[in-house]
Amino acid sequence: MTTVNAPGVPAIEDGELTSTNPATGELAGRFPIADPDDVARMVGRARLAAKWWAGLGFAGRRTRLLRWRSLLANRITELAALSHLETGKPIADAVVEAVSAIDHLDWAARNAKRVLGPRRVRGRLVIAEFSAHLEYQPYGVVAMIAPWNYPVLTPVGAFGYALAAGNAVILKPSEYTPAVGQWLVDTFAEVVPEHPVLQAVHGLGDVGATLCRSGVDKVAFTGSTATAKKVMATCAETLTPVVLEAGGKDAMIVDSDADLDSAAEACVWGALTNAGQTCIGIERAYVVEPVYDAFVAKVVAKASRLTVGAEDTDLGPITMPGQIEVIRRHIDDAIARGGRAVLGGPDAVQPPYVRPTILVDVPEDAAAVREETFGPTLTIARVADADEAVTRTNAVSYGLGASVFGRRRAVEIAGRIRSGMAAVNSSLTFVGMSTLPFGGIGDSGFGRIHGADGLREFGRSKAVTRRR
Ligand code: NAP
Repeated sequence: MTTVNAPGVPAIEDGELTSTNPATGELAGRFPIADPDDVARMVGRARLAAKWWAGLGFAGRRTRLLRWRSLLANRITELAALSHLETGKPIADAVVEAVSAIDHLDWAARNAKRVLGPRRVRGRLVIAEFSAHLEYQPYGVVAMIAPWNYPVLTPVGAFGYALAAGNAVILKPSEYTPAVGQWLVDTFAEVVPEHPVLQAVHGLGDVGATLCRSGVDKVAFTGSTATAKKVMATCAETLTPVVLEAGGKDAMIVDSDADLDSAAEACVWGALTNAGQTCIGIERAYVVEPVYDAFVAKVVAKASRLTVGAEDTDLGPITMPGQIEVIRRHIDDAIARGGRAVLGGPDAVQPPYVRPTILVDVPEDAAAVREETFGPTLTIARVADADEAVTRTNAVSYGLGASVFGRRRAVEIAGRIRSGMAAVNSSLTFVGMSTLPFGGIGDSGFGRIHGADGLREFGRSKAVTRRR
């Protein structure tokens, strides 16, 4: 079934938001757009649901969340197929993404009581001994505004923690992936039919802002840095707390004692998975002089073997057609400023696809080095030593993740990178470990999802002292 929309471009038809496959234009979903009254009604329903959900306690929520976890695992093929249809990403990538989301949900459900539940704390003031207890109470209603690039992992990796903490959630999926968002909500309602603990709201242009102004108790936003700033400004009007997971420009540093084959493999994976549409995707590599030529050759050899296309492929189409112009601009600008494409280049941009593009000799002030490209491109720069690599890595405004390959100094180098996360001798691994917090600094946002910090992000600490 096809629509008249340009493939992949969300549109409003008869008051409904339609999403389509970016390569074929096949219709993925059609959903009513919410107006401010609809949003207000949803918040009202969510408030009642939140009371009921919080009242279930950790054990009741854990049982239900684990039931949903089983449903997701049993229907992972269906979910991955829908995600593939709506984003164009390869089915295998969609499955891996869903598995990771399920892991996070599982961990949040099982660990919420341990992390957030009441605990005794001993304390002493000058005048007397005190006992106290500390617990984390749910905020109430959390709004989750999600992006399109990982339409399962990103929302579940945030709202799964919010639900485990006892909140009701209103999900605003990206306008590019409303069907996946609605599927998550509908399947949740199958295992929790009593109250609308998780709802979805759809829109194209102003629903996110309406939600931020709707009186929700917390906003969890994941998306671009530009929108994150708007979300924060809107939420400032009512002092609504926010957690902002924004864009990135992650680097890989390769030291002279690195295992070059592993480094090249991890670099290609980190840069090109999901066709580079990954917030923690590696967009820059800094490689020390003695191993630079060998590293570039290995990366080019591995990347040139990858296939690009709609089905049975390594790289799918660019999900958001408008992003293709950003990718094109970054490649053209890099080359105009003296950079060289050792793989791909301007001809690699053939909408809706972009073939892997590896750029070298690109000046540090080029857009491809400083701004988020969000496509299958990578710049590789030669550096004198690891110190120069750290300085150049830290010279951008983003600070999400990073990776370092090497033996003797790698852990120390990772500690000096200005980022929320770093991986040594691997890439992107920090996103999958549910025990670890996820988030950035600088233009990559603030606050943490995942792990114990991710649970605490969705609970307000409540301290009660008692004089003995
Ligand atoms: P985006 O365009 O910034 O965000 C789109 C969402 O924000 C839509 O749902 C939109 O809904 C809403 N929105 C727009 N303006 C708003 C406003 N003023 N107030 C509240 N909500 C508003 O992001 P995207 O293109 O979907 O996602 C790609 C970006 O996400 C990349 O930069 C990537 O790095 C980042 N990302 C970050 C992480 C991370 O964990 N750090 C993970 C994945 C992706 P309406 O238009 O209906 O209002």
